Amino acid sequence: MPRMVDLAHSLHRIFGFTAFRPGQEAVVKDALAGRDVIALMPTGGGKSLCFQLPALLQAGVTLVVSPLIALMQDQVRLLEDNGIAATFINSSLPREAVQQRIAAMLRGAFKLVYLAPERLLMSDFLTGPLEQLAAKPGINAFVIDEAHCVSEWGHDFRPEYRQLSTLRRRHPRVAILAFTATATSRVRSDIIAQLALREPAVHLSSFNRPNLFYDVHQKDAGTYAALLRLVRAGGSGIVYCLSRKRVEEICEQLTSDGIAARPYHAGLDAEVRRANQDAFIRDDVQVIVATVAFGMGINKPDVRWVVHYDLPRTLEGYYQESGRAGRDGDPARCTLFFGAADIRTADFLIQQKVDPDSGEPLEEEQRIARQQLRQVLNYAEATECRRAIQLRYLGEEYTPPCGTCDNCCEPRKLEDRTLEAKQLLSCVARLAQRHERFGAAHVIEILRGSRSARVISRNHDELSVHGIGKNHSTQEWRNLIRALLHQGLLAETQDGYPVLLLNAESWRVLKEERSVQVARAARATTSARRESASATAASLDNGDRSVFEVLRALRKQLADEHGLPPYVIFHDATLREMAQQRPTTLHEFSGIRGIGEGKLARYAERFIEAIRQAT
Ligand SMILES: [Zn+2]
Repeated sequence: MPRMVDLAHSLHRIFGFTAFRPGQEAVVKDALAGRDVIALMPTGGGKSLCFQLPALLQAGVTLVVSPLIALMQDQVRLLEDNGIAATFINSSLPREAVQQRIAAMLRGAFKLVYLAPERLLMSDFLTGPLEQLAAKPGINAFVIDEAHCVSEWGHDFRPEYRQLSTLRRRHPRVAILAFTATATSRVRSDIIAQLALREPAVHLSSFNRPNLFYDVHQKDAGTYAALLRLVRAGGSGIVYCLSRKRVEEICEQLTSDGIAARPYHAGLDAEVRRANQDAFIRDDVQVIVATVAFGMGINKPDVRWVVHYDLPRTLEGYYQESGRAGRDGDPARCTLFFGAADIRTADFLIQQKVDPDSGEPLEEEQRIARQQLRQVLNYAEATECRRAIQLRYLGEEYTPPCGTCDNCCEPRKLEDRTLEAKQLLSCVARLAQRHERFGAAHVIEILRGSRSARVISRNHDELSVHGIGKNHSTQEWRNLIRALLHQGLLAETQDGYPVLLLNAESWRVLKEERSVQVARAARATTSARRESASATAASLDNGDRSVFEVLRALRKQLADEHGLPPYVIFHDATLREMAQQRPTTLHEFSGIRGIGEGKLARYAERFIEAIRQAT
């Protein structure tokens, strides 16, 4: 195994980095020691380097199994740009090309070979090329990317992944390195069992994405204008909407405001979808407006912002979707807009979950969906650190403040709502005395003095609390109930139709042993600030920024010449450092982060020339 100093040297020589990112070095060491590994790393955590660097430092070939065929070509191109011999074999290639690549692989022409699982598991591949490869030049490791596909508990189960245990049976001495961005322990143990891993080294990276800024705003008349300001601040971005109709509307509105935007949803032809996705990846358009159907299997590392224009369905979904921002490690922004209408829509959709034959409600599904909606609302309405909430949900402790979310940066003002809380809790208590339990809607009707049939028929108009809260709107009461639930001052049943219940803390409020402080409604968009706080170029001063733009244009030109996405050539961070340092010699150029020998040979001259002309 190479000494540490050699690792650091190789890291710099090949990839142009002076230090490992958190968690990488430990995985690299275990891989070099020939151990089985299971590594849970968030997207954007620098996973690829964990198996690429060991692959280059060992004698044989490393085989990488990935279900994301569309990404293979870009990954191989990135490796080639770094001067690394790599190739991919999948169904997108004609037969002769596959034969040629297999022959070259057996000659030892590649260090890394990416394979689709279907190809690897074909019986004539297993008994032919794979056996020959094992004999000479040898197999260093099987890398299983997106390893959660092996688990039915994961979000992306692929039956063919189940058969990967064949690899262990046929090649018991070759290490298996499994990577996934899915955090749950159930999926983790499934991966270990299904792939027959042997006492694997388990690496759990933090799922914290420190470069992402999180903020949440209540929807109002200024929401679209806030979106437009954010878009105009620059950088590639994704706008997520719940429905196709909304996708089309927002996309049209942005286009008419002069923004290069394209829609993406399941109602479009597959060809149109692909063309729109490519236009986004290749920086031909700035914005993609999409339903959640968009994003799986794309890897655009320089997405600078992700906006949810509607409530996400689950908090995990929100983490994954917003996590498509800033995979290159540069600052990026994740903004969520939500409004009372969204909550009603979500509630309505949940009530539509019925058995198609009998028309009976699917109670279990509705229960889970309600619980997920509550978690999303808790996130949206929280006054505590957004990052801490997300990480707690993923099973990770985090001690705020994070310094990069709206609640940490601008804590919301608290208001005393003890009186209203007592009115509401007494209403629940009065009903409980009569052995009655109701959900929020009915309790609010009573407080507001409704004379609806539901209220009258149960004699609830005779309760002393009937009408004591008519000076507040239904929405204000709803907000208060959610705040009380959120603070644990009131409980709600989790099964079937949720009803409100008092708990020990509720009684402390009723006995005037404690007060109730509630944050003001979430920030309205009209007061939203920091639109440009996270745009990559915004951290540059004017002179550097104009050089950055020149370099960015050159990158786009080179990318188009080679039919590549721009990020394959250089990440934004590398361009930004070039714009600041302005290297004019090869030696200076090689000192920029992210430039190894391969990129130096391929691109240094063009960029140095551009820097000379721009300064
Ligand atoms: Zn925070």
